[in-house]
Amino acid sequence: MEILDILIIGAGPIGLNCALEARKNNLKYMIIEKGTIVNSLYNYPLYMRFFSTAEKLEIDGIPFISTAPKPGRQEALEYYQGIARQKEMNIRLYEKVLNVSKDDRLFEVETTKGKYIAKHVVIATGFYDIPNLMNIPGENLPKVKHYYTEPYPYARQKVVVVGSSNSAVDAALETYRKGADVTMIVRHSEISKSVKYWVKPDIENRIAEGSIAAHFNAEIIEIKENSVIFKNETNQTFEIENDFVLAMTGYLPDFDFLKNSGIELNGDCLNPFYNMETMETNIPNLYLAGVVCGGKDTHLWFIENSRIHAEMIINNILSNPFPENIT
Ligand code: FAD
Repeated sequence: MEILDILIIGAGPIGLNCALEARKNNLKYMIIEKGTIVNSLYNYPLYMRFFSTAEKLEIDGIPFISTAPKPGRQEALEYYQGIARQKEMNIRLYEKVLNVSKDDRLFEVETTKGKYIAKHVVIATGFYDIPNLMNIPGENLPKVKHYYTEPYPYARQKVVVVGSSNSAVDAALETYRKGADVTMIVRHSEISKSVKYWVKPDIENRIAEGSIAAHFNAEIIEIKENSVIFKNETNQTFEIENDFVLAMTGYLPDFDFLKNSGIELNGDCLNPFYNMETMETNIPNLYLAGVVCGGKDTHLWFIENSRIHAEMIINNILSNPFPENIT
């Protein structure tokens, strides 16, 4: 079986960047991706706009030409998939990595379609596949959505939006503007400070004028077929009529996958262990890259500030040559 220098798990922006860096340095690489190229971005809300300007989303110095200062989902898909196409990158798609194990020196990577052997493995699996559940009765009803794509299904419907971060705010504003009757239920005392600076006044003004109802310091406790029950900070409960719940409560990395690969998870945020200079984990030659590095703190890393991981990893691999006898 062919021995790869580096096997990268996940074809997100950061996995692609790692592959470009490996390619530049003549390392034999392969990416294995369980969906399409930049699968997380493909599943983003259709009309989302990045908070970053285009040049901050660039990888390997390849220009990202956008017609607006902040690109949208479609432009980002064109950019990243265009790079993969133009560079004829070695990517296996619709193949999920199930397990990573290591003997003395080499990794065996088992997928839904086969097995691969590699000297180094990079886990760049992001956090967009596992919703952060509220764990309340009724959460599994079909009217509860953990992924929001577009506003049109919600016209003239009573919609509860849970959360107050960018995803929640975008969903509340878009559905309100298509005629939904929107109520936000927010655990914190205000709209998140991290909401895009040009969007925050819009949501705050819609709440202030009463166009969008909002309950702060409040928590949803049960979802029923036609209503939602929530409580406020003094534990008073309220039941309101409801057709759909958009639970924008965030997402989590696949902690089981990290743990089964042998990576130590630490603290309340289950921070995966890695060396901050090399991105190498507690397992020699197993690296982490991209937003997966933050554990539960999914706001710590984003494309802008984790693009650098690719160079750090490849530099570390090049400065620690693998024993000559393995080819
Ligand atoms: P991802 O893009 O999530 O890629 C991980 C890949 O791994 C996925 O394609 C997934 O399918 C694959 N994968 C997972 N598990 C497996 C497995 N077992 N086997 C095979 N493949 C697997 N960042 C910014 O810098 N600027 C922004 O403006 C910005 N806006 C954002 C807007 C939204 C709505 C969201 C959700 C995030 C935003 N971010 C932004 C954060 C950042 O864009 C994303 O988190 C980004 O996708 C991270 O890149 P990544 O390569 O680390 O992970």
